[in-house]
Amino acid sequence: MSRILIIEDEEKISRFVELELSHEGYETGKAADGRSGLDEALRGDYDLVILDIMLPELSGIEVLRRLRKESDVPVILLTARDSVTDKVTGLDMGANDYITKPFAIEELLARIRVILRTAERDPKNASAGDGKEDANPAVLSTPAGIELNTDSHAVTYRGQPVELTNREFILLRILMENRGVAMSRERLLSEAWGYDYYGETNIIDVYVRYIRQKTADEVIKTIRGVGYMID
Ligand code: CA
Repeated sequence: MSRILIIEDEEKISRFVELELSHEGYETGKAADGRSGLDEALRGDYDLVILDIMLPELSGIEVLRRLRKESDVPVILLTARDSVTDKVTGLDMGANDYITKPFAIEELLARIRVILRTAERDPKNASAGDGKEDANPAVLSTPAGIELNTDSHAVTYRGQPVELTNREFILLRILMENRGVAMSRERLLSEAWGYDYYGETNIIDVYVRYIRQKTADEVIKTIRGVGYMID
């Protein structure tokens, strides 16, 4: 039976989630602030942590940062609707997923099932994104001067090394694997994360901007009315 920790200071939400999780057959633990949540996550032997971002004592982002120094336990962040920065920061810091408040419990349960399935299939890649990065070792390249090694994860632009975060790398790789195809934001999200993100597609724009800042604007083309493409 999987054990899930809920770190959330809003008692109503945390009690509701706890009830639903118990009903689904999960064992649960609860913490109402960042500090005790971090302690519990580190010593509690959990299979998954649901972590609110706005917490007293330590913020969710800070809990995640400290947790990731010692643990690969899968983490789902609870975020406010308009905090794209929190989502991007959280994912870059090793959160496996996020869900925006207010959320439908069925959606949270679905995401929990996806993550626990992935973790079961490949424990060491539980926090590595889509878990299929090493499927086809090869060097991909584009006329614009990007080279990407899917085996070593090294990326260069015109011969110069480019430091990408894990999520930026996954997005760039998907675009390069689909060269010449105009990719919609929805499809990019679904391929990068493995399932749909219900209208949260602006996160793709944020990642594309980061990749362009680290390389050049012309590396990824904007296709008006569709999304993005690499030639
Ligand atoms: Ca909160």
